[in-house]
Amino acid sequence: MSDAQTIQKPSQKENLNMSSSNLLKGKKGIIVGVANKWSIAWAIAKACIREGAEIGFTYQGERVLRNLEKLFKEENLEPFSVNLDVTKDEELTQAGETIKKQYGQIDFFLHAVAFAKREELGGEFVNTSRDGYHLAQDVSSYSLIALSKMFKPLMEEKGGSVIALSYLGSERVVKNYNVMGVAKAALESTARYLAYDMGSKNIRVNVVSPGPIKTLSASGIDDFSKMLEHFRSVAPLKKNVSAEEVADTCVFLFSDLSRAITGELIYVDCGYNTLAM
Ligand code: NAD
Repeated sequence: MSDAQTIQKPSQKENLNMSSSNLLKGKKGIIVGVANKWSIAWAIAKACIREGAEIGFTYQGERVLRNLEKLFKEENLEPFSVNLDVTKDEELTQAGETIKKQYGQIDFFLHAVAFAKREELGGEFVNTSRDGYHLAQDVSSYSLIALSKMFKPLMEEKGGSVIALSYLGSERVVKNYNVMGVAKAALESTARYLAYDMGSKNIRVNVVSPGPIKTLSASGIDDFSKMLEHFRSVAPLKKNVSAEEVADTCVFLFSDLSRAITGELIYVDCGYNTLAM
């Protein structure tokens, strides 16, 4: 699938094998952050397609593109996709122009991007390196500003909806989450400032904060399986959250049903964040 190749088949949502309420019918959105079939962004993309949206993807490099092509084939999709490393200004410019050419206007985008060096996701937080701190902030937080700047002109005529994915480690100390917790705190604050900034254009910006889900990124955190186990045993709903449950909340936030909600942080974590422990 290349930048020039385009257009989803209108019937593709039927291939996703789920019932649809057409909540996103007629809307176009860009999903940033699918790496493979376990990615939360992939579940969100599929839910948006199920609800009638036309979805385009960005991917980080050729290796990820190969994963995406396999996923598209499995679901019988032929979507638009474009290369984008969010730390590279020239790629942001290039992707912005390609997406504008493809869609003219869009209605929403998802920010599901985060990265920290493996060695920063464990051990003592006090040992966080300057370099590791900057990298985590650049990829995981600043990128929401860069993407919003890029997509604002494509949303300001009709209004739009932006969602970024965060995690509870932004406001509580979660063992081993370390530098990523600080990056998520910045991401959540960034979302509030962007919501204020772009509100007059009817562009809404919200943050969804899922409980732990086994994905490629999560596997970089020390003792992640123990986190899942603990979560399951103490969360009010006594289960781990699934990517599909997160996706359905995102459908709501991308849809007009949430038209008066902006600058909010919404937990999709089986109630875990309400606990004192
Ligand atoms: P994932 O590894 O599937 O997704 C992370 C994505 O970030 C990948 O697609 C990767 O290509 C992309 N990325 C990293 N650096 C990039 C760069 N420089 N340019 C462009 N893309 C880049 O993992 P995931 O768990 O689905 O993560 C998606 C989001 O959900 C992240 O923001 C993560 O922090 C958040 N989140 C995850 C969990 C969890 O437990 N898995 C919980 C709460 C929040």
